[in-house]
Amino acid sequence: MKVLLTGGAGFVGGHTCEVLLKRGDEVVLLDNVNDYYDQRLKEHTLDILRSVPTGKLTEYLIDLRDLDAVTKVFEEHKFDVICHLAAQAGVRHSIQHAISNVQTNILATVHLLELSRKHNVPNFVMASSSSVYGKSSTPPFSEDQLCNKPISPYAATKRSCELFAHTYHHLYNQNVTCLRFFTVYGPRGRPDMAAYKFIDRIYHDRAIDKYGDGSAIREFTYISDIVDGVIAAIDNPRPYEIVNLGGGATHTLNELISTIEKHCGKKALINQMPDQPGDVPLTSADQKRAQAILNFHPKVSLDDGIRQTVHWYLMYQKLNKGLTNGV
Ligand code: NAD
Repeated sequence: MKVLLTGGAGFVGGHTCEVLLKRGDEVVLLDNVNDYYDQRLKEHTLDILRSVPTGKLTEYLIDLRDLDAVTKVFEEHKFDVICHLAAQAGVRHSIQHAISNVQTNILATVHLLELSRKHNVPNFVMASSSSVYGKSSTPPFSEDQLCNKPISPYAATKRSCELFAHTYHHLYNQNVTCLRFFTVYGPRGRPDMAAYKFIDRIYHDRAIDKYGDGSAIREFTYISDIVDGVIAAIDNPRPYEIVNLGGGATHTLNELISTIEKHCGKKALINQMPDQPGDVPLTSADQKRAQAILNFHPKVSLDDGIRQTVHWYLMYQKLNKGLTNGV
């Protein structure tokens, strides 16, 4: 199968690409390797992908906002599936950079949808986010709930992308699956996210910024479980679906911190901060649809996932001293 994978130098994209190559697929990776966080982590991911002996990897280090450049990629390849994981992620970043968030997330997605329908690509899988549920959805969040009250530009762009995807399905019968990821963590995880930041700061005896009283609830999802869901969506084209992918359990921020303390063998120093605008108090995934149509069954507990993440972090520290989160 020939896959166009956007965001392949990033966290979820890198892991997805690795699995596709290992099973022998041909992957055309598209990423602009931006500097939202330390680019050495993306280079590290690209090095890993280049060393996979199976499959075939072709790289285009270009920007999805550049329609001419992306058009050329579609002219040079015939894709079986688009797996669109590139985005400007980060709720807090989106509040500071709303316009560029719209360009990177919405415009880039419409470029890809437009080229997919022009080139009759049979399947389109894209990353959405649990942030679309906002503050007023009822837990556990099911995909049928009305997500019309986003509380950050990031959430608004992700919901917009789902709506554009539906439009292309309606007008052109484009098969699309939108996957709503719930707080993903794991090796090579994003340095701007809590799991990585907390491990990094606790390990270096630096205070962590704790927003609110720690009672905020998240459905943390280990990277290998997310990749299982993405691959299942790649392999099972559906006319139009929105599907939650969550880790299968919820935990408070305080539980995340104590799990990291346990695996780092150190106590956290806490820098208490107020609740952040744009942050939702709770995420919790109803997984019935993911189970029914993707046979999705998350396997990795928070304890085991953090153990593996800390293990990776310690090895990565030796490789790259002084990694900064760049945010
Ligand atoms: P990431 O930032 O690690 O990866 C995104 C990649 O996209 C990066 O490598 C970046 O360089 C690339 N990119 C950004 N703008 C681009 C552009 N204009 N042109 C080409 N490439 C561009 O993020 P991630 O955590 O791997 O997220 C993957 C997807 O999952 C994103 O769509 C994100 O919104 C979504 N998501 C992630 C999480 C999570 O917890 N990690 C949760 C919900 C949704």
